[in-house]
Amino acid sequence: MQTIPAAEKASRDDRASRMLANLRMSGDVCLMYVDGAWVPSSSGDVRTLLNPANGAIIATVAEGTAGDVERAVRGAHHAFYDGPWGETGAAERARLLFALADKIEQHATELSELDTLNNGKPLRETQYDVADAAACFRYYAGLATKPLGQTFDVPGPSQSMVVREPIGVCGQIIPWNYPLLMAAWKLAPGLAAGNACILKPAELTPLTALRLATLIEEVGFPKGVVNVVLGVGPVVGHALAEHHMVDKIAFTGGTRTGRSIMHAATGNLKKISLELGGKSPNIVFADANFETAVDYALFGIFANAGQVCSAGSRLLVEESLHDRFVARLVERAQKIKVGDGFDPSTEMGPIISRAHQEKIEDYIATGQDEGATKACGGGRLPGELGRQGNFIMPTIFTDTHPDMRIVKEEIFGPVLVVQKFNDETSAVTTANDTVYGLAGAVFTSDIAKAHRVIRKLRAGITWVNTYHPTYNEAPWGGYKQSGIGRELGTYGYEAYTEVKQINVNLAVEPSGWFADR
Ligand code: NAD
Repeated sequence: MQTIPAAEKASRDDRASRMLANLRMSGDVCLMYVDGAWVPSSSGDVRTLLNPANGAIIATVAEGTAGDVERAVRGAHHAFYDGPWGETGAAERARLLFALADKIEQHATELSELDTLNNGKPLRETQYDVADAAACFRYYAGLATKPLGQTFDVPGPSQSMVVREPIGVCGQIIPWNYPLLMAAWKLAPGLAAGNACILKPAELTPLTALRLATLIEEVGFPKGVVNVVLGVGPVVGHALAEHHMVDKIAFTGGTRTGRSIMHAATGNLKKISLELGGKSPNIVFADANFETAVDYALFGIFANAGQVCSAGSRLLVEESLHDRFVARLVERAQKIKVGDGFDPSTEMGPIISRAHQEKIEDYIATGQDEGATKACGGGRLPGELGRQGNFIMPTIFTDTHPDMRIVKEEIFGPVLVVQKFNDETSAVTTANDTVYGLAGAVFTSDIAKAHRVIRKLRAGITWVNTYHPTYNEAPWGGYKQSGIGRELGTYGYEAYTEVKQINVNLAVEPSGWFADR
């Protein structure tokens, strides 16, 4: 048996064992959910999880293998193609999903604490994520029974129609920044549409996905319909992406990983959805409501410590407003209370891992080397907590140039770069000067200008005089290298369906095309 990573020197987090009480364990190892059974890794390997806020050990989980993926795929394939699931009607799928939403709400406190323990983000954020996850299952439960398809008035004695059917076996790979919510965004539409699913959580944050699987089992989804396989991306994720019996792969994560998944998926030309990275512009005009724009600029970049794909990581400020705006922004950023997510006074939590913290710190050093001005932050949280956990203070760079790496590359941390613009045209040009196209916002009191700018933004998710609100009803996804396809809303449901046309002859008699001589 191998332990990954070796973490013998870390202490145990005392709160953790209470919070793990409802996971399925063998000894002290959290098991995976494969083909209706709770199993260890076929290799016996385990992974130690650390609390990002204090470095203490919180859990040991099974570290899956390609063999475990094989077992999950066969289970899902059987459930969909030979088992009851392929024949399960929409009303029953809706019933199961409504029941799951209820269960999530019943266990909301436990789930939010588990996400805070594993991911580190403040409780007020994980409470929101849990409520949103329940709402997502409920939204798709409702959608499962709503009208779908089309009929056409076609020439001849024919009836032509289109129906949507489930794709089959779906592999679903998610990141660590919203552990439970990303699982909901994948499983809810996938199951509502009638697919069998294999979810691979991020290796750093599997705990709420495992707890969700216990609730899925409790509400009575048939064996094999939902599987949760743990392990690292290049092994378990890759095996899912290239498996010939997987009909669709849905991925949320980094753009480079998305490219690798796209390659792996070519073998059987499986359907593919990619939700990738961003470097999203938040544009503030001089006529904006000042305090509202400052407030949302902070929320846009420092919520979840900037570890958000759609973060407003580039702040574009009209030149005449720039100095006053930055001064107020820095004043507010320096007051953000950074700390342990379980502390009710904490406003911004830790970075997910020491490795990611160091990557962000490298970017901060690069920004200074490139000549940008660090207006605030950049360092670790002072004191004992700062030494134990992975904290970076809210950081703002001004005097930036479009060619700087901190302006072009996704940092995925609490680091904001400020850019200046002179007029509407240069705001749009600067905003679109990126390989990404996930999100963008505009702050102005001129509604016509807001619409003109939004119309020119090459991004899939946009806001006017706000930043970040997302709705289960609305499509989520990006232009350019921010992804392929959309999640959420009816778009996200359709992405889990195949489209079939059915043509029915209403005059059942020979066509006579070939003479019967
Ligand atoms: P990541 O790409 O490193 O990992 C995401 C998932 O992919 C993990 O489960 C990981 O194990 C798996 N993975 C890694 N390599 C793989 C491979 N070769 N084959 C198959 N699977 C593999 O990303 P991350 O660091 O976990 O998350 C941060 C990234 O996710 C950021 O770029 C962020 O913008 C993006 N993200 C995008 C959205 C969106 O909706 N567009 C949402 C959240 C996060």
